[in-house]
Amino acid sequence: MEKMKIMPNRLDRGFQMYQKEFEKKALEVLRSGWYVLGKEVSSFEEEFAEYVGAGHCIGLASGLDALWIAFRILGIGAGDEVLVQGNTYIASVMGITMNGATPVFVEPDEYYNMDASRLEEKLTSRTKAVLVVHLYGQASNMPPILEFCRRHNLRLVEDCAQSHGAEFGGQTTGTFGDIGCFSFYPSKNLGAFGDAGAIVTNDAKIAEDVRVFRNYGSEKRYYNRVVGTNSRLDELQAGLLRVRLSHLDELAEEKKRICETYLKGIHNSRIQLPQIREGATHIWHQFVIRTQERDELMKYLEERGIGTIIHYPIPPHMSEAYRYLGIREGMLPVTEQYARTVLSIPLYNGMTDEEQDYVMEAINAF
Ligand SMILES: *Cc1c(COP(=O)(O)O)cnc(C)c1O
Repeated sequence: MEKMKIMPNRLDRGFQMYQKEFEKKALEVLRSGWYVLGKEVSSFEEEFAEYVGAGHCIGLASGLDALWIAFRILGIGAGDEVLVQGNTYIASVMGITMNGATPVFVEPDEYYNMDASRLEEKLTSRTKAVLVVHLYGQASNMPPILEFCRRHNLRLVEDCAQSHGAEFGGQTTGTFGDIGCFSFYPSKNLGAFGDAGAIVTNDAKIAEDVRVFRNYGSEKRYYNRVVGTNSRLDELQAGLLRVRLSHLDELAEEKKRICETYLKGIHNSRIQLPQIREGATHIWHQFVIRTQERDELMKYLEERGIGTIIHYPIPPHMSEAYRYLGIREGMLPVTEQYARTVLSIPLYNGMTDEEQDYVMEAINAF
């Protein structure tokens, strides 16, 4: 087979699919003379709340903002502990520590999500909340997590930065807990053309508090109720997100088809394919395989022009930033094992059959 060049992700393809609509909307916003917190933002908030089945949506400037603002609004800070899975992206953890609270890491299950059976062992008198991350696009095992939160009177926050529209038991992620946090970073399944994020909630009081907090704590211009921040979603991003949201189901369908082809077409006894938990749906933010020979596979694919990414090579507890937590290597063996063995292979909307065949043939021949 002739050598091809395949990147792990291709944001240009996702743009080209609806180029005319994106360009039309961008011009419309530019010409409107209104650029922050206008009708595009409020329309997007309504449409996205409806998409996930939540009562309220508040647009914010990023996914990280959604996370730290969520804990701030819930009053979780210094002296409080939040349970979160060990193999998540570091932003989940920063959302906790930016408020002075302490992350307590829970090992992941075989689906890369929080292992609900290991929550109890991490519970202390300081535990105030659980942050569940629906990693790689698959909904977490919600029934036992909800039961645990109820039994111990804990807040539940969901990090849905990778799970737009993924469901457990027919309910959409982001609507199980007190607050659902979303990122619309360009590479996410619902991606903007810059930074963007949102909070969803069914609680009208939380919604109102977030809405005030994101705009300097002001309900009415120049009258500030609380010390807030500037985390406003801008009109241009909101408008472009509305275009992408209107096509999100077909985009998700295409990714699902690509991943089903991977699941059927990759045959290599040294490689473990992703699995889907009964009751959960997967929106395939990443297609993550696992092998003991991960670094060799990565190099081998690179030599054949195929780019891959490790999500994530250094778990938060082992990063320099969180050395102060005093969690040593070896204390989270499952998390650490995943960091040594996972690999995300090329996956994007607009991937051609030819590109995918090339990737599968290379992996099968490894
Ligand atoms: C992307 C991501 C975030 C952070 O979102 P930003 O918009 O980049 O701030 C948080 N958590 C997870 C799991 C993510 O993948």
